[in-house]
Amino acid sequence: MKYVSTRGAADAPARSFSDILLEGLAPDGGLYVPQSYPRIDAATLASWRELRATQGYAALAAAVLELFIDDIPAADLRALCERAYTAEAFGDMSVVGVTDLPGGIEIGHLSNGPTAAFKDMAMQLLGQLFEYELERRDATLTIVGATSGDTGSAAEHAMLGKSRVRVFMLTPRGRMSPFQQAQMFSIDDPAIVNIAVEGVFDDCQDLVKAVNADAAFKAAHSIGAVNSINWARVVAQVVYYVALYLDATSSEDERVSFAVPSGNFGNICAGHVAREMGLPIDRLVLATNENNVLAEFFATGVYRVRGSAETRATSSPSMDISKASNFERFVFDLLGRDGVRVRQLFGEELPATGSIDLSATPEFAALGERYGFVAGTSTHADRLATIAAEAAHSGVIIDPHTADGVTVARRALESGIVEAPVIVLETALPVKFSATIVEALGRDVERPAAFAGLENLPRHVIDLPNDVDALKALIETSLATV
Ligand SMILES: *Cc1c(COP(=O)(O)O)cnc(C)c1O
Repeated sequence: MKYVSTRGAADAPARSFSDILLEGLAPDGGLYVPQSYPRIDAATLASWRELRATQGYAALAAAVLELFIDDIPAADLRALCERAYTAEAFGDMSVVGVTDLPGGIEIGHLSNGPTAAFKDMAMQLLGQLFEYELERRDATLTIVGATSGDTGSAAEHAMLGKSRVRVFMLTPRGRMSPFQQAQMFSIDDPAIVNIAVEGVFDDCQDLVKAVNADAAFKAAHSIGAVNSINWARVVAQVVYYVALYLDATSSEDERVSFAVPSGNFGNICAGHVAREMGLPIDRLVLATNENNVLAEFFATGVYRVRGSAETRATSSPSMDISKASNFERFVFDLLGRDGVRVRQLFGEELPATGSIDLSATPEFAALGERYGFVAGTSTHADRLATIAAEAAHSGVIIDPHTADGVTVARRALESGIVEAPVIVLETALPVKFSATIVEALGRDVERPAAFAGLENLPRHVIDLPNDVDALKALIETSLATV
């Protein structure tokens, strides 16, 4: 399997998985995607059902990933999956699972990893893949990233102990929840550097961009990224769509729908890939919060990115995005994999006008039918009501992001657009967002034992002014000492 850019011409050279693993964007500014999606049939699914039941999640992951990765020997890939998806990190060998709620909804549990959010699912594998590939190349990697919450802690916990990887993670000072801060700042390792920037998340992201714009500095320190546009993260997520499908069904004739709380379109992009592969997915229900760039596109055909002033801070903060960085992958498929057209839309039209208008195209008209997408928006009031209603009816407490998914899924079921069962992906545990849980229920959730006393641990974080030279100096001195 080789990979091409979403902005490449049809005859552009293709790259191997190992090459694109350590790169971010393609040189032409596009995103890497497989040349074609592997297809699976009922017999493959039946064999995967057996594998999942007898050998657990890691074995299934290796079988699925093998279809996309042909430059890592199968035995090595299996070993990497075994190391990424352990019972120790994820609670048990099945790693993910489903819980039935009344009225056709099932919760797909993806947040049993070290940082209690679904980002662990991809990040734990990415940590293993990075270490493997860096070893093979006898190289090191310096990750410089910005986070407003879940990505940073998932990345740090995944890269911890990987001897060839250093992490510098920028956070907006005082702006993450106490729990999210503690998850990152409690890490005590010289290769992991937490930085609290005097500013907001966009300032952190601008600093990362400025460091990356200095080509000499970037090359001298082997600077890379772990953001959600990395194809390895998307493909790691394809696995849990398969696993949850198998857990929710008993035969390959059954179809299910998925509802996905969405921000950067990374999670649901993996669902789209799984559906294109032939996994029996009926609908993909995309849920946004008040920052509904994506729901607006699926309703109108116009994709209009927002400025940071127009991006609202909500109670499902990990979905507060102004622009969905993985969306280009879906548009590439929608437009018949025409890289020249995608380059024109995302490389020229979007930067010039702030939007892309596909409303008059035949592809947009056929979108729902062909790709199964349904979308909706959920608000703060919806989240609170849904958290309270689900807790009252079934005793299950869901986090605010998952509540956006349940809200939109229930509405779609009631209006008959979607049939049961709908598996709503649980993207975080409620313990991460306890202020909103208290607001919805009048009481807090019980804290899992693994997180007891987290906020009381010593903090390892360096304060930094919003200044790129100060950041570069910090990176240089830290790298000289590890
Ligand atoms: C990252 C995140 C999301 C959004 O996922 P995308 O892949 O960006 O669409 C939703 N919920 C939680 C809790 C997250 O951390």
